[in-house]
Amino acid sequence: LNDDLRCIGCGALIQTTDKTALGYTPMSALIKGFDQEEVLCQRCFRLRHYNEIQPVDLTDDDFRRLLEQISETDALVVYVMDVFDFSGSLIPGLHRFVGDNPILLVGNKVDVLPHSINRAKIRDWMRQQANIAGLRPIDVLLTSGKNGDDVPALMTAIEKYRQNRSVYVVGVTNVGKSTLINQIIKDVTGDRKEVITTSRFPGTTLDRIEIPLDETTNIIDTPGIIHQDQMAHYLASKDLKFVSPQKEIKPRTYQLNEAQTLFFGALGRFDYLKGPKSGITAYFENNVPLHRTKLSNADHFYQQHAGKLLTPPVQENLSLLPPLRRYEFKIAEKSDVVIDGLGWLTVPGNVVIAVWAPQGVSVLTRKAMI
Ligand code: GDP
Repeated sequence: LNDDLRCIGCGALIQTTDKTALGYTPMSALIKGFDQEEVLCQRCFRLRHYNEIQPVDLTDDDFRRLLEQISETDALVVYVMDVFDFSGSLIPGLHRFVGDNPILLVGNKVDVLPHSINRAKIRDWMRQQANIAGLRPIDVLLTSGKNGDDVPALMTAIEKYRQNRSVYVVGVTNVGKSTLINQIIKDVTGDRKEVITTSRFPGTTLDRIEIPLDETTNIIDTPGIIHQDQMAHYLASKDLKFVSPQKEIKPRTYQLNEAQTLFFGALGRFDYLKGPKSGITAYFENNVPLHRTKLSNADHFYQQHAGKLLTPPVQENLSLLPPLRRYEFKIAEKSDVVIDGLGWLTVPGNVVIAVWAPQGVSVLTRKAMI
């Protein structure tokens, strides 16, 4: 097999041996493709012709190759993140791969955040977090790919910063990149047709899409990069539906005393360790049930009720969930304790708390957004 034969859809090296790996093409299809001088891997073929998605195992090398392409090109990089899951949308080492290219940071799914949150504060926070990750974005924008209202402003920003260069859109899976690209396509082409398939499940975009901006430049959509430490990877579809907010989150406030615990389904828990009776506000998907118990009884309560009273996950999917890990914080001023991809709690200053989250999922604190 010719070493340089690549899929014209996703750019993967064509191979005929491993059905589950990138670039798999049945020999029969390959022979047919040779006649037409272009070959689509089976995955891209199905995506293109049947709108059907197949999972694939992407190796780190595949990703690296993809990202290296960007550093070798003079381009604007549009980095799409989920405002609800910052750590879960980080691409490790991205700062090395973008080279000298400017980054426009896009915080997507902003529609799920309560209206009472000041947008400027979220943008500041995103910029701070990006800096910590070694990135210096030229600008930070908030969008909702879902309703598309913010897309014209995004396009204006892209035009401003690209300066006649091509545009690479990057992001990990599940941040809503496909949905956003579809909106961009609508905006650019005026076409009402859906072009890319979107899915609730990570790992479903593996088609390199080029949207022409003018004669020489394009918007290039790169495959979503899988980030293991995402809530979505620990949940079955049925449970994920309950956790990923689809609509604006409604804050829920509990008056908690010292030594009380609040469970969020079986996905995590909040222990109020030290401080006066206080209002603790939880921001989770509106369907995630919250349960209050005594701290002294909390371990036992979890063992007894996880998967039953405490869902999601439901009983049969409980084994997918990594064990909960405990993080203790001394909170000096009013703060948000963020469990990435799941939600956050706003706590007053001068308290001691602990938060439990599935191992691998990031827990961090920030100055309260509200
Ligand atoms: P991709 O893997 O990054 O390409 O993400 P998709 O576009 O497939 O979207 C992943 C999930 O997030 C789907 O369930 C979408 O419905 C949801 N989603 C995408 N964009 C938005 C958005 O702007 N707001 C909200 N609330 N959900 C979104």
